[in-house]
Amino acid sequence: MQTIESYDFSGKKALIRVDFNVPLNEQFEITDDTRMTAALPTINTILGKGGAVIIMSHLGRPKKGPEDKFSMKHLVPHLSELLGGKAIKMAPDCIGEATKAMASTLKAGDVMVLENLRFHPEEEGGDEDFARQISELGDCWVNDAFGTAHRAHASTAVIAKFFPNDKLFGLLVASEVESLDKVLKAPQRPFTAIMGGSKVSSKITIIENLLNSVDHLIIGGGMTYTFVKAQGGKIGGSICEDDYLELAKSLLIKAKEKGVQFHFAVDVVEADAFAETANTKVVSSYAIDDNWSGLDIGPETIKNFSKVVRESKTILWNGPVGVFEMDKFAVGTKAIGDAIVQATANGAFSLVGGGDSVAAVNKFNIADKVSYISTAGGAMLEYLEGRILPGIAAVQE
Ligand code: AMP
Repeated sequence: MQTIESYDFSGKKALIRVDFNVPLNEQFEITDDTRMTAALPTINTILGKGGAVIIMSHLGRPKKGPEDKFSMKHLVPHLSELLGGKAIKMAPDCIGEATKAMASTLKAGDVMVLENLRFHPEEEGGDEDFARQISELGDCWVNDAFGTAHRAHASTAVIAKFFPNDKLFGLLVASEVESLDKVLKAPQRPFTAIMGGSKVSSKITIIENLLNSVDHLIIGGGMTYTFVKAQGGKIGGSICEDDYLELAKSLLIKAKEKGVQFHFAVDVVEADAFAETANTKVVSSYAIDDNWSGLDIGPETIKNFSKVVRESKTILWNGPVGVFEMDKFAVGTKAIGDAIVQATANGAFSLVGGGDSVAAVNKFNIADKVSYISTAGGAMLEYLEGRILPGIAAVQE
């Protein structure tokens, strides 16, 4: 497989699929440019190696063809700034004669941005002819959009067939794949996954898949109570998914069969209201008072979980172990973060992924003390579920 480092870009036009689906305010100002800055290493590397780049992305959810508010033109001034004031050509569309003519004028070091791919329903439809038309604009295809790698859209996967020998991962996707594979395919042991968040239902397939590879599975957060109730515990008013009680039981059995150690909270911080001002008590997680809810793990559990994490060599963290948005219930999540930081300092590989765990890592200022943070959301979760991502497979095939 070709890589950005090995590929000869000189004199070539690289079509880079990025995820520039950034939030814009009413004045079309970018309110968070993380996704744009994340693609800069790939863009700059290709430019530095004598290539021209054609940047393509979707932006927002246009319903019926072109809509000014979803035009990629809103991103051009900021992209130019990020690229050191470089002049950028804005294409009238992502296909068609005028766009083709503009692409044909590109020289080494030039940057052109295509109009929103989703102005054409063929993009999400994975239309082959649409993909072919885009492919004619460039000499190679670089997939640097991990966030859309789970979609078999024209620009994220289908286009690959027009570049059998000239398709490669961008640096962002390459590092996502490498980090996730480090955890999923060749973990150093012991391997511990910490699954938190509110619902079992949204994490069930991941948990099932992880049971094939982890040594320890720590369950925290709101999903604790579905497991506790399934085992006959008293959960008071804690969040629970009654439809998943049987499934929770079957996961416990499966874990036992596979020799995976399941770790649950032994004690929790219960509260009489879902509020920072609530009264709180530490109680057994199996004996929560009526009308009180477990909103964080308790001190004994913090000790137990932290010990498992500190002794691990590979750690995957997805989801907070409490309602960390409120300081009163953030103690457990912060402690887990601290244990991960310690393990990482001692040589473990730690991967944090999933919106809320990333928010937690940022809240506790430990982002630079874990090995890798995945911001890919849905695509990462599907990878963890063991699914093949079309945007990854298309490059690897
Ligand atoms: P998720 O999107 O499923 O990862 O859930 C993240 C959310 O779970 C966060 O907003 C947390 O506040 C919430 N959460 C964590 N622990 C609990 C709990 N014990 N009860 C209710 N919500 C929780």
